[in-house]
Amino acid sequence: MAQPHRAKTAGYGVIIAGGGYAGSTLALALTKLGPQGFRVALIDTAARLPNAETFADPRGLALSAASKSLLDTLGLWRALAPHAQTIESIEVTDSPLNASLRSHFLGFDEEMTADAPRACLVEAGKLLRVISDAVGSQPAIDVFAPDSIDRYESNAFGVSVHLESGGTLQAPLLVAADGKRSSLRERAGIKCIGWSYPQVGIVATVAHERPHHGRAVQHFLPAGPFAILPLKGDRSSIVWTEEKTQGDALMAGSDEAFTAELMRRFGHRLGRVSLEGPKQSFPLAFQLARSFVGDRLALIGDAAHVVHPLAGQGLNIGLRDVAALTETIVDALRLGLDTGSATTLERYQRWRRFDSAFSGTVMDGLNRLFSNDSAPLRAIRDLGLGLVDRAPGLKRFLVREAAGATGDVPRLMKGEAL
Ligand SMILES: Cc1cc2nc3c(=O)[nH]c(=O)nc-3n(C[C@H](O)[C@H](O)[C@H](O)COP(=O)(O)OP(=O)(O)OC[C@H]3O[C@@H](n4cnc5c(N)ncnc54)[C@H](O)[C@@H]3O)c2cc1C
Repeated sequence: MAQPHRAKTAGYGVIIAGGGYAGSTLALALTKLGPQGFRVALIDTAARLPNAETFADPRGLALSAASKSLLDTLGLWRALAPHAQTIESIEVTDSPLNASLRSHFLGFDEEMTADAPRACLVEAGKLLRVISDAVGSQPAIDVFAPDSIDRYESNAFGVSVHLESGGTLQAPLLVAADGKRSSLRERAGIKCIGWSYPQVGIVATVAHERPHHGRAVQHFLPAGPFAILPLKGDRSSIVWTEEKTQGDALMAGSDEAFTAELMRRFGHRLGRVSLEGPKQSFPLAFQLARSFVGDRLALIGDAAHVVHPLAGQGLNIGLRDVAALTETIVDALRLGLDTGSATTLERYQRWRRFDSAFSGTVMDGLNRLFSNDSAPLRAIRDLGLGLVDRAPGLKRFLVREAAGATGDVPRLMKGEAL
């Protein structure tokens, strides 16, 4: 395992602040796929990197086929595969909570053939474990944790980062992967556009009596979408979007009361359900940085964008940033260009900002369209879902879109070498 490095002044290819999913994956991609001798400094305020025993994140994360390709190229998929449940089919319903029958409006069954790119579900803690283990055994990554950036300055030649713990790190480029409240983004004076939702996202793992057969279900309920996502075994991960006051009351109540509400939403198909671990509630927001780049600075992951979790795309979009930034940096190095120059960073920004804004706006629109109890709106959206259900070409496109296989896909997400 790499131990925190305490040199007084050290030079790196890239310095990354934030060793979560996006930051650690970028560190691995650059050290595995960059030129020989390329070193990365990874700084995180949390002590967990890289030696933590457990990662307390009760979420199930839906990973697109494109994200799987990236993890596979980095040699991470082999360790993750035994824990990953493929999504075999998807069902979408739209009804009030007390409806006696949940009509099926949209389904993806035949479109999800064996050769179609399919998403899968992994437990967040398992994913972070695999990523962190890989970081710990990569000698080209120096981990500084727990630590943070006291200040940094940039000039025409590079950026100097002064750590809280003392010592100075230097590199041509600094990457902010420090999550949605990114302090680096703030220090760089980059503002965000966005808003908070009057909803919370409650997540938990549940066990159930009957098998799910890989079926993911999205119930659009008036308070917000309620997703049942299949995990390995007779277990599922739920993402329960609920109006905030109601959500806070659910979190404060007993597990019995919570499970009773769960059963009302699950129906009887999976039999009796029970909580398998702690539940956790997340505030929900849409947020997009006005710029994904600054002076010798690039933003990735939630530091750059936060989207509504209804389609499980947040990290997938963040991993696209990782793949695009890795490709941009490796290409620049091959051409002998400055990896932190405005020209190099502009390529990354052009590639990622519009794509992220588009995905975030689609999630926001879907949440607004479905999270209400308006009868005329329900009639219109159900007509829309019914029409999509009868359009096989459009459904195939939607499956490819969810798989991350549309648009300008970075090479690492298509399983291609750099
Ligand atoms: C309810 C819910 C369900 C979701 N489900 C899905 C899903 O199914 N699929 C999907 O793709 N996405 C999903 N997401 C989104 C996904 O969780 C996020 O997009 C992802 O966690 C972002 O990863 P990140 O590495 O950018 O940020 P984070 O995971 O927030 O990591 C940030 C890291 O930076 C560190 N840090 C913070 N401040 C500093 C600092 N000043 N200096 C140094 N380090 C710092 C933190 O310790 C942390 O390690 C979901 C989100 C929610 C809320």
